[in-house]
Amino acid sequence: MYKATKVKRRRARKTLTREQVLELRDQLRDELAWLKRRLDKSTPAAFTDDFAQRSVRVVAALDRIRQGTYGNCAVCGEPIPFERLECVPDTTRCVTCRANGFTPSESS
Ligand SMILES: [Zn+2]
Repeated sequence: MYKATKVKRRRARKTLTREQVLELRDQLRDELAWLKRRLDKSTPAAFTDDFAQRSVRVVAALDRIRQGTYGNCAVCGEPIPFERLECVPDTTRCVTCRANGFTPSESS
């Protein structure tokens, strides 16, 4: 009994729960909607580029959620903590890889 609880807790801390993924998905969808509204309007080119790039990142994150690979670091494969994803839901790297300057081959 005690052992089962312990294992469950450890797993819950490492990988995202379904609720956490859904929460982050909503966050990403909100951001995408916001970016699309901005891109529809006549924004200066400098901002358009930034918004367009962010849109690509957000769409890629939503794709990863669909594929079931969301929440894992694209460099080392380790789960990214929920707290980090809450701040940067479209991130592809864990804090360690980001700090070390490691970039995944799929994006620059
Ligand atoms: Zn990593």
